[in-house]
Amino acid sequence: MHIEVRNLNKSFGDFHAVQNVSFQIEKGHLIGLLGPSGGGKTSILRMLAGLETPSSGDILFHGQRVNDLPPQERGIGFVFQNYALFKHMTVYDNIAFGLKVKKQSKERIRERVMSLVELTGLKGFEHRYAHQLSGGQRQRVAFARALAPEPQLLLLDEPFAAIDAKIRTELRTWLKEMIERVGITSIFVTHDQDEAIEVADEIMIINKGRLEQKGTPWDIYKNPQTPFVASFIGESTIVEDVAGLKGFEDAAGNGTKALVRPEYIEVGKPGEIRLASAAMDGIVKHVHFRGSEWLVELEADGVKLVTYRPLESEVLHPNERVSILLHRAYLFNDEKSWIAENR
Ligand code: ATP
Repeated sequence: MHIEVRNLNKSFGDFHAVQNVSFQIEKGHLIGLLGPSGGGKTSILRMLAGLETPSSGDILFHGQRVNDLPPQERGIGFVFQNYALFKHMTVYDNIAFGLKVKKQSKERIRERVMSLVELTGLKGFEHRYAHQLSGGQRQRVAFARALAPEPQLLLLDEPFAAIDAKIRTELRTWLKEMIERVGITSIFVTHDQDEAIEVADEIMIINKGRLEQKGTPWDIYKNPQTPFVASFIGESTIVEDVAGLKGFEDAAGNGTKALVRPEYIEVGKPGEIRLASAAMDGIVKHVHFRGSEWLVELEADGVKLVTYRPLESEVLHPNERVSILLHRAYLFNDEKSWIAENR
């Protein structure tokens, strides 16, 4: 289903929870709504679902305005974090529920349920009850149940939030594969950036009721358009005074700050670094073992920076003098933001 949202607003009393949000979603895409708690993600999802009435703005499915259509007529499936399965029903009956409501024939229901049981890897579990399933299995049943009536849009609100970290990672990959296989347009809400980056075709960053940026995970990571997006996605250090950053001094003034990502910092022994003329003299403050790499805290001319080093690289020691080359920085002040490089 192709979706278009135009100037969507939602107020609760005098609180403006969703502000002038507009976007389009292509058919079959998997979109992650990402942002801090209270930003308005769930409110947007609920308006798409018809569970909440917009204060103003339009929602179009296939080019048709659906603002006045009740939820059950919108062709939507839901998977919610706490959208508990019906406890007194088996896996089979849970998945069959929406089809029974639609008064489909017994044979048709059986065929559809069994194909979903197969698709979601739940074969052999059809006769179990919710309490006899793991958290991951329950979410797979919830997914199968949402898909049973063949919705054209799938909405997922923090679908993995209640699940253990390890299983959650598996489920993400699983869900992405399933959604690709079924080819259904899907939107999921999360406040976990790794989850959004790994799963979504496109991410929408929602903050304080506004859509800050929409794009592929890589595009958002590489070309953030607002300071909020730059600091929310990926790891970074903010440098308050750009004057101290070699290669970026030209940008100093007007309150310009820099946001620096660890992967754009190169560290070497003094004199052993490429582009030595552009490198800063610095000192190693701390080195932490992070399981798959070293995290190194550095200081150069009073500026604190953080970077990573591969485990097999030569070990750096606290108080060691080093050369630091900053390849790229995201610069911003009150008026604008831009990306600058040291080449
Ligand atoms: P979370 O990740 O915590 O669920 P969210 O980004 O999904 O956050 P929403 O649930 O959409 O955010 O809430 C946005 C804001 O609107 C919040 O400040 C919330 O308190 C407020 N809000 C949501 N629903 C209502 C309501 N029914 N009445 C009053 N305020 C509400």
